[in-house]
Amino acid sequence: MQRRKTRPVRLGGIIVGGDAPVSVQSMTNTDTRDVAATRGQIERLIRAGCEIVRVAVPDRQAALALPDIMQNMNVPLVADIHFDYRLALAAIDAGVDGLRINPGNIGGRDKVAAVVRAARQRSIPIRIGVNAGSLEKDLLREGVTPEAMVQSALRHVSMLEELGFYDIKISLKASDVPVMLKAYRMLADKVDYPFHIGVTEAGTVFTGSIKSAVGIGALLWEGIGDTVRVSLTGDPVQEVRVAFEILKALGIRRRGAEMISCPTCGRTRIDLFKIAGEVEQRLAAIDQPIKVAVMGCAVNGPGEARHADVGIAGGVGEGIIFRKGRVIRKVPENLLVEELMKEIDIIIQGRNGD
Ligand code: SF4
Repeated sequence: MQRRKTRPVRLGGIIVGGDAPVSVQSMTNTDTRDVAATRGQIERLIRAGCEIVRVAVPDRQAALALPDIMQNMNVPLVADIHFDYRLALAAIDAGVDGLRINPGNIGGRDKVAAVVRAARQRSIPIRIGVNAGSLEKDLLREGVTPEAMVQSALRHVSMLEELGFYDIKISLKASDVPVMLKAYRMLADKVDYPFHIGVTEAGTVFTGSIKSAVGIGALLWEGIGDTVRVSLTGDPVQEVRVAFEILKALGIRRRGAEMISCPTCGRTRIDLFKIAGEVEQRLAAIDQPIKVAVMGCAVNGPGEARHADVGIAGGVGEGIIFRKGRVIRKVPENLLVEELMKEIDIIIQGRNGD
C-alpha cells in the first residue's frame, strides 16, 4: 500500500499527515460544561490509546469550561464548533489545540478572517468537517452526492487559502459508505491536506463497527487517511478500540493485544465462548503488541495458531498453554485464563528486560 502524500499539520504534541502514523481520535459525549464528567471520559479515552480528543462547544459556558478540562491533560484537544465564530475565538483563547469549524457557515469573510487570525497566532489547525447531512442547499440539486461533498469542501478550503491559511485537515463524512468512499477518493486527487476519515452516524457498536471497518478500512488500504474516528452510538472508548482493531487488521499500527480465536466446532469440549469473552476483557488493559490465541481444541488449535505469540487450547476439563505453536504445559479449565495472563506477563516482562 502506498500512502497518499499529505502536508503534515501539527496538532498539539502530535503530527497529522506527512509520514506520521495514522492517529486514532474520538469525541466526548458528556456535557462539556460538566468538567468532572468530561475529564473523566477523556482520561478513559487516553487509557484506551486515544491520541486526539474532540469536545463539542455548543455555547459560551462550554467554552469557559475548556481551560479546566484541559488542565494537565496530556492529549491534543479539538473544539467542535458550529456556526458561531465567537465560540471559536473563545475556544482558541482557552488554549485548545485545534478547531473543527466550517468557515462557510460562520457568517461572512470578516468572521472567517477573525478566526483565521487567532488560529494563526496560536499555530492551531482547522479541520473542515463536511457532513453529507448538512451540505449547502445550492449543492443539493442532484441530492447528496460525492461531487457535492467535494465541492463543499473545496469552497471551505478556498476561503481559508484566500486568507493565506494552510493548516487544514479535511473530513468528508457520510453514513452511506460508497458515497463517503467516492468523496474521499475524489478529493484526494485535488488537494494535499491530510484527511480525517470516518463514517458518520455509523450506528450502534455492532453495526457501526462493521460500517466503519468497511469504509475506513477500504480507504486506508488505498493509502488514504491520516487520522481516524470511528463514530458509534455508545461509549467513545469503544470507538478507540474499534479504530485500533481496524488499523491492526491492516497491519498499519500495532497497539495492544491482538486476539485470534477459533469459531469452535464439533471437537470443542470447553466453554470457549465464555473463555474468549474473559480473555478479550483482560487483554483490553494491555497496551503492548502481542498476539494471543484462544482455540477450541488441543488437536488443531496450537498448529492453526502457531503465528500467535501465546495461546490456549481446550481439552476435556483442562487445556494447554502454547507459545508459537509449541505446547508449554497443561492446566485445569478453570485456571486457563489466569495461567494465560501469567504467561503474557512473562513475555512482556521478558521483552522489557524486567
Ligand atoms: Fe475446531 Fe479445534 Fe479448529 Fe477450533 S481449533 S475450529 S475446535 S478444529
